Amino acid sequence: MHRLLERVLKKNGLKAEEVPNLEKWHAFLEKMDEIFVSNDEDRYLLERSLEISSREMEELLETSRESFQQRITALTQVIPDLIFYVDEEGRYLDIISQGQEDMLFLPREEIIGRTMQEIFPPEYASKFLEATRKAIETNQLTVITYDMTGKSGKRFFEARIMPTNIKENGKRTSIAIVRDMTAERKSIDYLNVIKKIFEDATEGILIVSAENHYMEVNDAFCRMLGVSKEELPGSKLSNYTEYFDKETMDRISRMMEEKNFFNGEVKIHKPDGSELLAWLTIDTVLNEKGEQAYRVAMLTDISELQKSREQLHFTATHDVLTKLPNRTLLFQHLEEALERSRTREHGGALLFIDLDNFKEINDTVGHSAGDRVLLECARRIRQSLREGDIFGRLGGDEFLLIIENIENMDVPMYVAKKVIEELHRPFHVGNDVFELGASIGIALFPEDSRDMGELIQYADMAMYRAKEKGKNRFMYYSRALDQDVKRHYMIERALKDALSTGGFHLHYQPQINLKTGEVVALEALLRIRGSELGSLSPAEFIPVAEESDLIVRIGKWVFDEVCRQIVQWKEEGITPPLIGINLSRRQLMDEEFCAQIRETVSHYGLSPSSIEFEITETTFMHSRKTGYQVITELQEMGFGLSIDDFGTGYSSLANLKQFTVDKLKIDRSFVQDMISNESDRAIIKASIALAKALGLGTVAEGVETEEQLRLLKEMECDEIQGFYYCPPKSPEEVIKYLQ
Ligand code: C2E
Ligand code: CA
Ligand code: CA
Repeated sequence: MHRLLERVLKKNGLKAEEVPNLEKWHAFLEKMDEIFVSNDEDRYLLERSLEISSREMEELLETSRESFQQRITALTQVIPDLIFYVDEEGRYLDIISQGQEDMLFLPREEIIGRTMQEIFPPEYASKFLEATRKAIETNQLTVITYDMTGKSGKRFFEARIMPTNIKENGKRTSIAIVRDMTAERKSIDYLNVIKKIFEDATEGILIVSAENHYMEVNDAFCRMLGVSKEELPGSKLSNYTEYFDKETMDRISRMMEEKNFFNGEVKIHKPDGSELLAWLTIDTVLNEKGEQAYRVAMLTDISELQKSREQLHFTATHDVLTKLPNRTLLFQHLEEALERSRTREHGGALLFIDLDNFKEINDTVGHSAGDRVLLECARRIRQSLREGDIFGRLGGDEFLLIIENIENMDVPMYVAKKVIEELHRPFHVGNDVFELGASIGIALFPEDSRDMGELIQYADMAMYRAKEKGKNRFMYYSRALDQDVKRHYMIERALKDALSTGGFHLHYQPQINLKTGEVVALEALLRIRGSELGSLSPAEFIPVAEESDLIVRIGKWVFDEVCRQIVQWKEEGITPPLIGINLSRRQLMDEEFCAQIRETVSHYGLSPSSIEFEITETTFMHSRKTGYQVITELQEMGFGLSIDDFGTGYSSLANLKQFTVDKLKIDRSFVQDMISNESDRAIIKASIALAKALGLGTVAEGVETEEQLRLLKEMECDEIQGFYYCPPKSPEEVIKYLQ
């Protein structure tokens, strides 16, 4: 090679093969040499120019080297990875990347020149070193992944190690490019979780691309449709017609067209013939451009929900004991039946069935036996009905029966007779046998009324009438019985209202000793405040109350009120005389009566001797065992006792002897006519004589005139009660009278 060329190349660290067109250069220089030998001036020029150009070449090279370094720096700054230059022993020769200081576990200066083993825990260091050596030995790119826990928590890395053919200090080297994969790794984990949720979801999920190309489905979806993944009919909604009925398909398509969304209850018809109730949602997923990308259908099995929903509905509309329709459902049925009767040729009938003497079963053998009897009644009635008849329990021992489309007016009568017959057969509960029976009221629709409330009321009234007529019979509603029963009805309602709104109060009527003129007792008489029936007289409302248990509740109120009044009077410094309280038969039959009386007296701190009970002669006569026991117990407690309305019951006084009665109250009807009617006068006289013989006091009720008074005085009657002296008065007024 030409020596000059050799020198220039050497000086610039270039190799011969790196010089383009070496032959031409060579030839050129040879030519120059010739010129050099022949021409001095030219030689000088040439030398100069060569000197200059080699300097320029040097400069040129220098600038290109700088720009190369700049480019590398720029490059490493944009690459998010860390680039190390390491030798085969794990020593860091350089950190090529610029920036990325946050990815370094140590400051740059502390890394360069040290080995991996010095910097990292052994398990990382050896892993890295092994990979580095492998890359160098195999002369191939080697990739490893690893994680490290630093200040910012656990991070994941991927290192790509590339061997170089450069030797440093005699050691082979490689470039390691380390990338932080934490974010990617997290999103992969996240995707895995989503996938797991998708696969294991109890909801059935079907994902379909907008063009119906792609489809993803989970097991639950297939399970709910009752098919395997392979048998799934495809991605189009229209493929699913056999799984839903037409109405549902229409509903889905309509809503999808309108809103691109569906949400609703659907019934799935599975291939095996079974059905599943599900909640279906179909939603559209849009891409970033707002175009439809996917459709997601989601199925939720709501059959359990439906079951409990039905259960709830059943309990809300059925009687707990008999499982028959309850009041709510019955009324609904009746309303519908009335509606139907408008368009039908034949009307229907409403039967109000009330058991006779049911209370006695409850009272004597307890509620659970009572329940069994009720169940048996329901069964017997149900049995004697036709398929379409609607039968339910209103409550207590009351049932309603709706019969529709009656061709013959006698049909309800036959049904009623059958029911009565069924219920008249004896009931066996344990060892006991009971005779029951039923009273039935029948109202026809639309003849009697088209209004539900009215119709029930009419059937109820007819039932009342049947009871009045002696029970165990049926009665058709008629306008004629309307007036009586209506009044009865309204009274009962007025009583119930008074009980719940505090509408009762008491008046007191004095009883005067004829010899001394002293007020020896006050009879408490019940009054009801301004009801819609005007001022109701107890003579009318007490019998109504006595027909039901209302009298027991009312009686309780009266006793409590008397006790309260006595205490109030005492606190006001007034010492009241004996107070008389009327008792009725039902109260004596009430098991809790004595206990309650005892409790009330002790609550008010009163002595029983300040109270006297008035029990009518008829009640005495008809009281059965329990009644007698109660009367005896009251006496033992220390309450006074008088026989009310004496003379009307035709009892033999001998019967009454077993009680230590304090006085006889001669009934007002005898006093009323004693002046004109000789036999009444005789009865009074005899009664007084009898009473005296038995050591009882006598009170004449309803004394209105001076003449009556005079006669009674003559007959040596002890006490007088009546308008002549004083009518029943309010507590305040009666006290004024006393004073
Ligand atoms: P009773 O026990 O025979 O009460 C006497 C009735 O005769 C009272 O009628 C009284 O106002 C009335 N009376 C008193 N003196 C005369 C008079 O000179 N002439 C006339 N015509 N009547 C007179 P009242 O207050 O209307 O009570 C009627 C019935 O209602 C009572 O008859 C009693 O059986 C019943 N009763 C009243 N309050 C109660 C009560 O708190 N409980 C119960 N179980 N029954 C009651
Ligand atoms: Ca009385
Ligand atoms: Ca009386």
